[in-house]
Amino acid sequence: MIHKYSQNGFNIVMDTNSGAVHLFDDAPFAMLDYLDNAVPNEPPKAMMDNLKGRFDEETLREGYWEVLDLYKKGQLYSDDVYGKFASLMKNAPIKSMCLNIAHDCNLRCRYCFAAQGDFGGERMLMPFSVAKSAIDFLIRNSGTRHNLELDFFGGEPLMNFGVVKQTVAYARSLEKQYDKCFRFTITTNGLLLDDEKIDFINREMSNCILSLDGRKDVNDRLRIRVDGSGSYDTIIPKFQELVKRRPKEKDYYVRGTFSKYNLDFLNDIKHFLDLGFDEISMEPVVSDQKLDYSIQEDDLPRVFEEYDRLSQFMIERAKAGKGFDFFHFMVDLNQGPCAIKRLRGCSCGNEYVAVTPTGDIYPCHQFVGSEEWKMGNVLTGALNQEIKSAFALTNVYSKPDCKDCWAKFYCSGGCNANNLQYEGSIRRPHSISCKLEKKRLECAVMIQAALSV
Ligand code: SF4
Ligand code: SF4
Ligand code: SF4
Repeated sequence: MIHKYSQNGFNIVMDTNSGAVHLFDDAPFAMLDYLDNAVPNEPPKAMMDNLKGRFDEETLREGYWEVLDLYKKGQLYSDDVYGKFASLMKNAPIKSMCLNIAHDCNLRCRYCFAAQGDFGGERMLMPFSVAKSAIDFLIRNSGTRHNLELDFFGGEPLMNFGVVKQTVAYARSLEKQYDKCFRFTITTNGLLLDDEKIDFINREMSNCILSLDGRKDVNDRLRIRVDGSGSYDTIIPKFQELVKRRPKEKDYYVRGTFSKYNLDFLNDIKHFLDLGFDEISMEPVVSDQKLDYSIQEDDLPRVFEEYDRLSQFMIERAKAGKGFDFFHFMVDLNQGPCAIKRLRGCSCGNEYVAVTPTGDIYPCHQFVGSEEWKMGNVLTGALNQEIKSAFALTNVYSKPDCKDCWAKFYCSGGCNANNLQYEGSIRRPHSISCKLEKKRLECAVMIQAALSV
C-alpha cells in the first residue's frame, strides 16, 4: 500500500508497510496511478500510451526503472509483515500511570472533557494513602520494566501540591529497592504556580504540560474561571517564569486547544513564540458536534489551509535558524516507534492506566467515570484482566477502518476514548480526527522533505 500526494511543489510517496518515503519527479509519480500494488518488469503498455503525451519516451523509461528499482528493494508496495502477529498481541505489564491527583479545578474551561475538573462526580483531592497504593500497584504490575512513567493530572494537580510532593518522594524512595526509574510529568493550568512549585516542577518533572490556548481573547473565551473571568493575565507571567528557569535538557509543552473560534490558530502559535515558548502543541477540540465551538466537517478545508500555512511558517523559521517544536508534526521517519507502539498507539487499558482519587482504575483519564470501563482499584489490588486483554488486542488490525489506512503505523489507530465517545466503539475511528491526523502527517512529511533538500 502506498500514499501519494503533492504539496508545496513536492511529489511525495509513502510506502505504508516499509515506512519508506520518496520524493518523485513528475513522470514516475504519474505512473503510480497505473500500477496496482505491484511493478511488472516491463512498463505496462496502457500506462506508456496514456503518459506519452505528457512526457518524452526517455523520461518515461528512466522513471519506470526508478519505480521498479524501489519495488525490488522492498520500498514500494512492500508486504505487510505485522498483520499476522496482530491477533497474538499479549497483555503487557503496566508501565505508565495517569494519577488523577485532583478531581477538582480552579478553572471552568467550556470544552473540558473532565466536566470542568470533577469528571462528572464529587469534587475531591486524592489522599496520599491512595497515591501511595497507586505507586505500589504500579511497581507490582510493571514486571521487569525498569522505566516507569507517572503523570500528575486533574482537574488541576497543583490544587493537591502537598500530595504531589509526597508521592514523588515516596516513588523515588522505592526506585533502588525495586530497580525502577520513575519519570514524572505534570499537566497544569498554571493558576497556582509560585516560586516553590516552579522549582519543584523544574527539578522533578521530566516533562510538564502548560495549558494555554493562545492570544488573550482566544484563551479567555473558553478557559474561564469560576466567576466567568479570563485566566490569561494571571497565567502568562507564571508560565514564562517556569520556562525561563527550566533546565534546557528537560521538556515542556505549551499546549493549546483550537476550536471553531480560532481556526486561524497559526496566529496563536505565533503568539506563543512571541511570549518565548518554543515547544508547542495545538490540538483540535474534540467535542459534541452540536456545541457552538466544535469543529465540524465543513470546517476541515479551513483547518487544512491553516496546517499548510503553519508548515510553510515552520520551514521558513527552520531555514532562518529559528525552528521550534510543534508536537503534532513530530514524526520519526527513520526509526519510528517500536512495532508494538506502531500497532497499538497509546496502549491505554493495557500498558497505561488512570487512577482516580478513590483508587479506581480506568483504561485512561478519558474513560474515568464510565462504570462499565472500571478495571479495578489500587486499594484492593484488583485488576480486570478481561478488559486489559481486550485493550491488548485493540490495534490497527482489529479496527476495520484502520487496517487498510495508509496512515496506520503513524497514527496507530487514533484515540480509543474519542472513538468510544463519538463513534460508539473503541474500534471505530473518530471520523474528523482521522482526517485531521492524515493532513498533519502529510504536512509533517512535507516539512522534512523541504528541510532535507
Ligand atoms: S484546566 Fe483542565 S481540568 Fe480544569 S477546567 Fe480547564 S480543561 Fe478542565
Ligand atoms: S484512526 Fe483513522 S487515520 Fe488513524 S489509522 Fe485509523 S483510519 Fe487511519
Ligand atoms: S485513549 Fe485517547 S485520551 Fe486515552 S490515552 Fe489513548 S490517546 Fe490519550
